[in-house]
Amino acid sequence: MSIQIRCPACGGNVVMDTRLLLAGHQFTCGQAKCRSSISISAQSREVVQHAVDEYQSIRQQTVGSSHQPG
Ligand SMILES: [Zn+2]
Repeated sequence: MSIQIRCPACGGNVVMDTRLLLAGHQFTCGQAKCRSSISISAQSREVVQHAVDEYQSIRQQTVGSSHQPG
């Protein structure tokens, strides 16, 4: 799952993979003139983790209703 955040330095969009983000990975802003390193604090990580959990539970419900295994 990828999320888009706004670069705090230049305001450009930065696409991050939530799995890498939650692992503490640093991302680089895609704007050629900026190239700032972006990472999130442990506190923000919890917020992202919560959002990912909710997203996945919704997704599982949707998949489950259209195709039931067994
Ligand atoms: Zn930037």
